[in-house]
Amino acid sequence: MPYIEHGPTDPHTFKTHLVKSKRILALCGAGLSASSGLATFRGAGGLWRTHDAMSLATPQAFVKDPSLVWQFYSARRQAAFSAKPNAAHLALAALSVKNKDFITVTQNVDGLSPRAGHPPEQLYPVHGSLSTIKCTSIFCSYTEHNNFDMALTPALAPSRTPADVDAQPPTIPVLDLPHCPKCGIGMMRPGVVWFNETLPNDLLESIDDWIDQGPIDLCLVIGTTGQVWPAAGYIGICKGKGAKVAVINMEIDDDPHLGGVNTADWLFKGDCAQILPDILEPIIGSMDEVRELLGDTDKFPATTSSGGPVTDTSNNNDTTSGTGEGTGYY
Ligand SMILES: [Zn+2]
Repeated sequence: MPYIEHGPTDPHTFKTHLVKSKRILALCGAGLSASSGLATFRGAGGLWRTHDAMSLATPQAFVKDPSLVWQFYSARRQAAFSAKPNAAHLALAALSVKNKDFITVTQNVDGLSPRAGHPPEQLYPVHGSLSTIKCTSIFCSYTEHNNFDMALTPALAPSRTPADVDAQPPTIPVLDLPHCPKCGIGMMRPGVVWFNETLPNDLLESIDDWIDQGPIDLCLVIGTTGQVWPAAGYIGICKGKGAKVAVINMEIDDDPHLGGVNTADWLFKGDCAQILPDILEPIIGSMDEVRELLGDTDKFPATTSSGGPVTDTSNNNDTTSGTGEGTGYY
């Protein structure tokens, strides 16, 4: 129990600090969506239909077997779009509405925070989104956001997937996989950050701009071990700017050296969907008030698109470069 002497579990001292806090940064991981019922496929033994899920989340896997990788992502899209935002997503969305100087950096690609009504300008999905798809042609930059179609092509319809989870998925001809509606040539790919790819620079720069604007009062580490980049880096940066750190996670005992930061100020072990509405209550009010504030708490934002065929290839989507500390997950 390495944290007990440093990490009070008393929500009252947290709430006292929360109401005084102006600039707040939240880091979110898979635990945020746990009570929405989504599998993460992470860690040892993360299998999808007998395949190591992590081995499917690379540009190399997509080039080698786009049929298999698209079926993996199609299944994840269907699961994510069928899931509902939980009380933790709503609580963070409400805190964002109440405090315009609160930003959320999320590693989750499930899109549940946007659907909860989290203001998009205060949300940084650094690993992309399952609802984003983009053209792979080096001559095209077409990207579609908020695409919540359950089946991007007839071949990817849920009914085409074998019910037996040990059964191999069928091999889908490339022409039956999603293709770009703009250039008509490129295959579309999931708009998530794969292993060996860099995180989106524009988002990272926006986060850095926010960090540079002044002291930070509070860092919320939610549903993530905080040991992986970029979460680990941001915890240290926030502490360096004066922030107190609160960790909300199921697995606190397994994480003795949170992000290289050996002390957290508060540790709340358990389900984020139960803890966040409680500890944020002084700002967001009751969950009834949160629902009233947010209105429809399961929105599917309208589809938007950008880009298209380009002649200057310096602006294209680079799907292959990037290694090192900017490496993402999926
Ligand atoms: Zn295209």
